[in-house]
Amino acid sequence: MSGNRDFQTSLNSRKGDAMNYRAWITKAAKQPMELGSVDPGPLGVDDVEVAVEHCGLCHSDLSVYSNDWGISQFPAILGHEVVGRVTAVGAAARGVTVGQRVGVGWSSGSCMHCRQCLSGNHHLCPQVQFTIVGHRGGFASHIRAHWAWVIPLPENLNYADAGPLLCGGITVFAPLVMHAASTDRVGVIGVGGLGHMAVKFAAAYGCEVTAFTSSESKFEEARGFGAHHVVSSKDSAAIKKLSGRLDLLISTVNVKLDWDTFIGTLAPNGRLHVVGAVLDPIPVPAFSLILQQRSVSGSPTGSPVAIATMLDFAARHNVTPQTEHFPMSQINEAFSRLESGKARYRIVLDADF
Ligand SMILES: [Zn+2]
Ligand SMILES: [Zn+2]
Repeated sequence: MSGNRDFQTSLNSRKGDAMNYRAWITKAAKQPMELGSVDPGPLGVDDVEVAVEHCGLCHSDLSVYSNDWGISQFPAILGHEVVGRVTAVGAAARGVTVGQRVGVGWSSGSCMHCRQCLSGNHHLCPQVQFTIVGHRGGFASHIRAHWAWVIPLPENLNYADAGPLLCGGITVFAPLVMHAASTDRVGVIGVGGLGHMAVKFAAAYGCEVTAFTSSESKFEEARGFGAHHVVSSKDSAAIKKLSGRLDLLISTVNVKLDWDTFIGTLAPNGRLHVVGAVLDPIPVPAFSLILQQRSVSGSPTGSPVAIATMLDFAARHNVTPQTEHFPMSQINEAFSRLESGKARYRIVLDADF
């Protein structure tokens, strides 16, 4: 109850602020973000309004900020790993109540009537709304999203560090649910923002985990995250020794690798699953797939139910991202830190409007 009282106080303190949101706005690609004010207009009937408490900074924010994928729309409010409290619900919204602590990830809406939405694969909806492309994201005092994509957080989850689970976490958890058994040998390529969560989830899932990293300085930490083996991703001879061993290999990196050698580590029926947005094509020799009956696949984030399931799993097994916190007012410094590659391993911005 004391949490609700605190919340009421913060609502009251907002009253002088009219209806406008405060937000960190990117006016054009690669331009420093500036604090501004946004009139959100009337709340849609299916919309939920959330007062942002924390928002993770994901590599995809950097890609949209730099327009690396050519899909960015400016001015933009980035941020898609939101944790906060519900402040208003539209007349037709279901499943969340004012005051509840919730999360919003990479997607903020979907059509709710297509084949994918109706079969529980909302994240594959042709009209899925990305939170930070043509929609106002979470580097703001408030965010809005369709009620189906506003996910209640489990009570016992460390909410201040939960932001990165809502995009990065589900991105690496979904392949385990789809393609791994707890008895499998799972490889994770890259020990970074995504990869360190993949190692933690795969270890908690019960798998034997091999982490591949180009940085020897991360070997010990990768073991600390639960990796049973750590191999240099630059050491082709060491990778070749794992020939035919891994049931699932999750690639979290966005750089070109010696893909042929990595595919060679797959056991019969093994699968290379790509979640890192590498822009160079991945060459796949047909024979290395055919003879061992191997697959190459990919996936984006996950459905609302998949996200809720991941959060329950994370709370139960105490899977938390390793984070660095910045006040949101240092957002430009935080972006530079992410870009430098020095963040260990995921940055979370704490709202300080
Ligand atoms: Zn749909
Ligand atoms: Zn993301």
